[in-house]
Amino acid sequence: MKTVINYIRSLFLWELLKGLRLTGSYMLKGSVTLQYPEEKAPVSPRFRGLHALRRYENGEERCIACKLCEAVCPALAITIEAEPRDDGSRRTTRYDIDLFKCIFCGFCEESCPVDSIVETRLYEYHFENRGEHIMTKEKLLAMGDKYEKELAADRAAQAMVR
Ligand code: SF4
Ligand code: SF4
Repeated sequence: MKTVINYIRSLFLWELLKGLRLTGSYMLKGSVTLQYPEEKAPVSPRFRGLHALRRYENGEERCIACKLCEAVCPALAITIEAEPRDDGSRRTTRYDIDLFKCIFCGFCEESCPVDSIVETRLYEYHFENRGEHIMTKEKLLAMGDKYEKELAADRAAQAMVR
């Protein structure tokens, strides 16, 4: 009996009609294609884009040079050097992230006890000269300063769903 049904279905191109019905149902719906880069898709607050180092409100660097991020990085992309300051606090003298090595796993962000190293929503960037793939401490802090408002809001949103 099943064979007969399959034969009749194939005779009337049943599978093809089913496919055409599905295609037709999408013809009446709006387009889902975005005209990038003029139009952009929404980005999650948990998106792992380009890195940044954050500061406290008084301008002090959050990073305490504990090197947890360096230890946890599976790609060995982070290089940190540190020295104690005159006031006894410990701060980095060098904080580099090699973006050619980084796999944007987010482990550095997860491991940081003071919410210092974070990943922004920025995914549009390019390099034009040799060496630009190294995110130095200065570049990372500048990124943090530029996107602090968005970073703080994203961290607050994530804390609410935890
Ligand atoms: S995102 Fe992952 S791979 Fe990239 S620096 Fe952080 S820990 Fe390393
Ligand atoms: S960024 Fe965070 S985890 Fe990395 S060294 Fe600084 S305080 Fe430690």
